[in-house]
Amino acid sequence: PEGYRTEGSLTLGDIFIAVKTTKRFHQSRMELLLDTWISRAREQTYVFTDEEDDALKRRMGDHVVFTNCSAEHSHPALSCKMAIEFDTFLASGRRWFCHLDDDNYLNPRALLKLLSSYSVTWDVYLGKPSLNRPIRASETLPNNQTKSVRFWFATGGAGFCISRRLASKMVPWASGRNFLSTSELIRLPDDCTVGYIIECKVGGHLLPNALFHSHLENLQLIPASQLMQQVTLSYGVFENKLNVIELSGPFSPQEDPSRFRSLHCHLYPDTSWCLQAVGW
Ligand code: UDP
Ligand code: MN
Repeated sequence: PEGYRTEGSLTLGDIFIAVKTTKRFHQSRMELLLDTWISRAREQTYVFTDEEDDALKRRMGDHVVFTNCSAEHSHPALSCKMAIEFDTFLASGRRWFCHLDDDNYLNPRALLKLLSSYSVTWDVYLGKPSLNRPIRASETLPNNQTKSVRFWFATGGAGFCISRRLASKMVPWASGRNFLSTSELIRLPDDCTVGYIIECKVGGHLLPNALFHSHLENLQLIPASQLMQQVTLSYGVFENKLNVIELSGPFSPQEDPSRFRSLHCHLYPDTSWCLQAVGW
């Protein structure tokens, strides 16, 4: 039903956006995203969480997926969620899979522009490299020996995207319970496991992209004039300080500590609460 389109013209409906969250962030983080960018990408955004919540269901309808994964910050719990995101994407039939954390701002227009520049007939894995070199890991082999492996991966906290063609090649390692067993082979988090599957199993490569941002980089360094072109942004604590983008108004840092509401008003000035904020 999601519209048949010829190769080349990509629309937002071709993109599957997965947002990973957990019970304790439904209010503090998800409300902010729902008020801002998700309101402009409602039809393609799915939220993956670990506990039923009527308030969230009321706002997201059947776009909230309760995973039954445990609500822990453990590798298995997070791998469980990633596997369900991945399988829900595969079943959706959409052309692109994009994963985000619940402290990311996604600019749907910038995302569409970026993904439009790649053919979906390619194997594409786009995101921000977590390190400035490939990570080294030790892979457990079936005979219990180990092998040293090296691969690049996109940091999950900055968001990343995978084309359907590449995603279908990942199925033997990423679908269902396979994701968890794969992550156990290298004993690393879910985002590393994605990179490992793509680079070491499928033979693909991470395409580093500077438009994805996590709160592990200094967000103040992004020039205000370029904020509107970024695909993802974030907020959080970095080296014991609040790390947010630098943007003056329309909301004060007290009213809008993450700066996401202010950014949203710059991108979508016709939003009702933006008009009020600037006194129109
Ligand atoms: N998260 C989760 N389960 C947990 C803790 C965190 O699914 O038990 C999610 C959280 O909602 C967010 C991501 O994992 O989307 C990263 O969490 P957070 O930003 O708190 O930590 P970071 O790794 O960025 O320091
Ligand atoms: Mn975070």
